[in-house]
Amino acid sequence: MTRSSFLLRSVAIVLGLAIALPAELLAATPVLPNTETVNWEVMSQIRNEGFHNSKVMEIESQLTDVIGPRLTGSPNMKAANDWTRDKFTEWGLVNSHLESYPFGRGWTNEYTEVRMVAPQASPMLAYPKAWTVSTNGVLRAPVVKAKLATQADLDKYKGQLAGKIVLNGDMREIKPQEKPALQRYDDKQLADIAQYEIPSEKPHYSPQEIAQRIAFQKTLNQYLMDEKAAAIIDPSRSGDNGLVFVQGGASHEPGNPAGVPSLVMAIENYGRLTRLLDKNIPVEMELDVRNTFYDADPNAYDTIAEIPGTDKSGEIVMLGAHLDSWHAGTGATDNAAGSAVVMEAVRILKAVGLKPRRTIRVGLWSGEEEGLLGSAAYVKAHFGAHQPPTDPKELAMPEWLRKNDTPLDLKPEQAKVSAYFNIDNGTGKIRGIYLQENEAVAPIFSAWMQPFSDLGMSAITDRDTGGTDHESFDAVGIPGFQFIQDPVEYMTRTHHSNMDVYERIQRDDMMQAAVILAAYVYDAAMRDNMLPRKPLPKPAPPAPAAKP
Ligand SMILES: [Zn+2]
Repeated sequence: MTRSSFLLRSVAIVLGLAIALPAELLAATPVLPNTETVNWEVMSQIRNEGFHNSKVMEIESQLTDVIGPRLTGSPNMKAANDWTRDKFTEWGLVNSHLESYPFGRGWTNEYTEVRMVAPQASPMLAYPKAWTVSTNGVLRAPVVKAKLATQADLDKYKGQLAGKIVLNGDMREIKPQEKPALQRYDDKQLADIAQYEIPSEKPHYSPQEIAQRIAFQKTLNQYLMDEKAAAIIDPSRSGDNGLVFVQGGASHEPGNPAGVPSLVMAIENYGRLTRLLDKNIPVEMELDVRNTFYDADPNAYDTIAEIPGTDKSGEIVMLGAHLDSWHAGTGATDNAAGSAVVMEAVRILKAVGLKPRRTIRVGLWSGEEEGLLGSAAYVKAHFGAHQPPTDPKELAMPEWLRKNDTPLDLKPEQAKVSAYFNIDNGTGKIRGIYLQENEAVAPIFSAWMQPFSDLGMSAITDRDTGGTDHESFDAVGIPGFQFIQDPVEYMTRTHHSNMDVYERIQRDDMMQAAVILAAYVYDAAMRDNMLPRKPLPKPAPPAPAAKP
C-alpha cells in the first residue's frame, strides 16, 4: 500500500485506543435481517484445501526469495509477471496473459558499499533510492551536514556543496521501543473501526502537498546536479535497529533530472556521522553504488487470468493485489503477501473443482507504489475513466492525485463486474471488511462472514479505506473492497523497509486470508444477483472560465 493509506491507518489505530464500549457492543458483527444463503459444504471444501494442502508459503517464497524485489519496470517485475501468468495456466485458469501500459524506465541496484573512511574506517548500512544514479566507481569525498527541505534551504547552501557528500537533515531522537512491534486488533479496536466516521471537511491527506513534494524532489535533484554535489544521504525517516525505509528518489518518467547518487541510511550510522561533524571532526566516506536503468521497454505489465463462469459467464467477479514492491527488502508483506493470498485463493477454487456461475477474473497489478498505475490503466482500458479535468490546476496534477470529480466515460463491461476484492495490508489475517460506504452490501457480507467466526473475522465497517488498488475500481462505480487485516508488524517494521522479507510472513494468517478470500469470491460468483452498487459520484460543476 502507498504512503497516504499508511497515515490513514495510523490515525484509525490511535482513535481505536481512545474509545471504550460495553463488552456486549464489542462483537462487531451487526445483526441484520438476512436472506443470503451460504453453501456450507463448499465452505468446508475451501477450508479443507486451504488448511491441509496450502501452497501460499511456496508462492510467497517464489515471489520474494527466488524472483526478489519487484520494482515496477525492472526485470524482476517482468519475471514476476511471467511466472504468475504461467502458474495460473498450470493451475487450469484460462486466458492467462499480460496487459501493458506506458510506465517509463526500469531500474535495479546491483551493488551498494557505503563506508566511513575518516576519522575511522567503519561500514555503514544504506540503500540507494529507486531511479537514482550510480557513483560511477568508488567515490571518496568529505561529508557535510545540510538540511535541504525548502527553496530557502537550497538558497542558503548554494555554492557550498560541490564535491561533498551531503547528510540531508538533522538526527532524530531515538528512544527505547516501549510498544510491541507486533499488533493485532483487539475487540475494542475492531469495534471502533466498525463505527462509521462522518467525512470531515478536511481530506485525510492533501494531494496538493504530495504534488508539491514530488515537484520539490525534481527541484532538489536539479539543484544537486547544478551544485555538483557528490552524493546525498537521508536518515531513515523512522525505525531503528538497522531498519531502513526507502522508496524512490527520482522519477521513472524519462526527461526528469536524475540527481546525484542518493541513499537512505540506518539511523544509528547516521547519528554517528552527524555527531562527529557537530564536534568539527572532519569525516570522509567512500560510496560505491551501481544501478542500472532499463529503457528498452517503456511499458509495465499486469497479470490477468480467469476461471470461466457457467450460466452467468458474461458477468465478472474480480480479485486482485499489487505484485510490485519497493527494492530494499523483497517486498514480502507489501505486497507479495497479498499476491500470494490472491493466487492461493484461485488455486483453492480450481483445486476444489468448483464451477462458478460468474467468471472469476484475477489481476496482479504493477505500478501500485507509484500511484495505483497498473490497476488504473486496466480499469481505464476495460471499464472507463473520468474525463480529463478542465481546471488547469487539476490538469497539472499527476493523474493519480486528481480529484476524479469530472463526468465518467464508462465502457459496457463496467456494468458486468459484480465486485472487486483487494488484498494489500501486509501479512495479517482478515478481521473484517470495509464496505467502502456501500451500505447495501452489509447484510450480504455479514452472511458470508458466518463460516469464519472461528477464524477471527467479525467486523464490517461502512468506512472506506484508501491507498490501494480497489480505489481504481471504486472510482468508476464498480464495488471495490479491501479487507480489514491485523497490522502485525506492517506499520512498525516492514512497510517499504529493508526488512520487508519472507521471515516477517505469518503462515497461519496467510492461510486464513486465502480461505476467506476464496469464499467471498465464490459467494459473489454464485449469488443470484450482482452485488448492489452505491450511487455514482456526482460530477462537480465545471470550473468557471478563466477571465480574459
Ligand atoms: Zn506499499
